[in-house]
Amino acid sequence: MEHSVPDSTPPFFAIHGERSGRVIVVGAGAGGMMAAGRAAEMGTNVLLLEKTDGPGKKILVSGKNRCNLTNARDLEDFFSMYGPNGRFLQGAFHRFFRDDLLAFFARYGVETKVERGGRIFPLSDDAADIVKAFGRYLKDYGVKIRTGVSVNGIAVRAGFVEGVRTEEGLLPARAVILATGGATWQTTGSTGDGYRMAAAVGHTVTKLRPALVPLVVIEVERAKSMQGVSLRNVRLTAFRGPAEAIDPALTPAKDTGRGVEKRRRKGPVIESRMGEMLFTHFGIGGPITLLMSLSVVDALAEGPVSVAIDLKPALTAQELRVRLQRDFDNFGKRGFRSLLAGLLPHKMVEPFIEMTGIPADRPGHQISAAEREKLLGLLKALRFNIRGALPMTAAIVTAGGVALGEIDPRTMASRLVSGLFFCGEVMDIDADTGGYNLQAAFSTGFVAGEEAAKLLLS
Ligand SMILES: Cc1cc2nc3c(=O)[nH]c(=O)nc-3n(C[C@H](O)[C@H](O)[C@H](O)COP(=O)(O)OP(=O)(O)OC[C@H]3O[C@@H](n4cnc5c(N)ncnc54)[C@H](O)[C@@H]3O)c2cc1C
Repeated sequence: MEHSVPDSTPPFFAIHGERSGRVIVVGAGAGGMMAAGRAAEMGTNVLLLEKTDGPGKKILVSGKNRCNLTNARDLEDFFSMYGPNGRFLQGAFHRFFRDDLLAFFARYGVETKVERGGRIFPLSDDAADIVKAFGRYLKDYGVKIRTGVSVNGIAVRAGFVEGVRTEEGLLPARAVILATGGATWQTTGSTGDGYRMAAAVGHTVTKLRPALVPLVVIEVERAKSMQGVSLRNVRLTAFRGPAEAIDPALTPAKDTGRGVEKRRRKGPVIESRMGEMLFTHFGIGGPITLLMSLSVVDALAEGPVSVAIDLKPALTAQELRVRLQRDFDNFGKRGFRSLLAGLLPHKMVEPFIEMTGIPADRPGHQISAAEREKLLGLLKALRFNIRGALPMTAAIVTAGGVALGEIDPRTMASRLVSGLFFCGEVMDIDADTGGYNLQAAFSTGFVAGEEAAKLLLS
């Protein structure tokens, strides 16, 4: 299906396009639309190919349909959000960063607002406004968009891009920008095609792993019994080794992990986060679980991993011990079930009765010190062994991708094939939640578009 070739296309673009060939952008997602628009704005003839029936499908579902498009944090803080690969983005961010992005959207009528954690959303809370803004941008600069076209290969001759292969045959181009995204949430069109296409022309694709993904526990029945409970202000810590080997004394008092620390941790603690999480029918999910999921997935490749949930992180073990003793004495006639109800969400009371083995109706003053210690241990370190993560299709982003050493960070150009460029998630880039993934796609898309255009115009 062919979309707009606007009547308003300035003749300059057409003439230029004929003279110097065209740019083909594969994938009309965040990176691809930015790349296509920028290449056309620079004065080249651009064809944007999208395999689904419309552009920006993943943008539409992003940020719970509100699109957390970037973040208000400082540039320096951004880099740590992408783990060890963050520095690759330095050049792209210096050329096109948050303020440029916000100015771009303002130009197309999208006002924005900043929320908790610096997250930036459209003022309308509607991700569709972001896609519409791109629609206007692409139209303004005469980008030709074809949807329902699946690219299945990059044509290369003697080290130079010749075009792309589709079911219709070869579509010639002097520059190709691969913007096919990752391999997650496949209904949005990102099915990992770009990895296969890049590998077919000689690029290395680093190991693909799900990131920002819920975790499956071995004690699945236990998790299920608390399914739907959302915990706020708890500390979740992932440890190397099985749950029974966890030493709760090693639980850090502060967050550790990507975006917080510069280096990857060695030793038993993998990552620790305070915030919100939830129990599901298979294990654990929610914001802090997603944030630490990639470290857990990577650590699982090396051996067993377990987690401990500190349900009362504001109190030290000793403070909690004193409090339990005081409460159980003060309300000594109340049964254990009723005492637990004052400490835990309703749905966690029965599982705690089972785990402690303390009879539900035992009065507080009859609960022994040893039994109180058992309860204390569970409140400070509710343990689960991790079986794995949900599959790639359920992850928010794909970790791994086209190896960054084979891409020039100043231009997003392939170091192996002349005329081939990359942008967005197809590269070995992934970030924490907070708008960082989309900013990376927009910034690298901008650079790839501009550089592809420069190649044609030179
Ligand atoms: C549920 C969910 C919520 C998210 N929320 C946020 C958020 O709020 N903030 C944030 O920063 N990030 C968020 N992300 C991540 C973010 O959306 C992605 O990292 C980002 O969209 C990647 O942009 P991209 O351009 O690289 O790829 P995509 O946006 O995935 O676009 C790739 C496009 O390429 C097309 N394509 C693929 N293969 C072919 C082919 N063979 N031929 C033609 N076209 C092809 C696809 O159909 C798709 O349209 C979220 C992700 C998910 C799944």
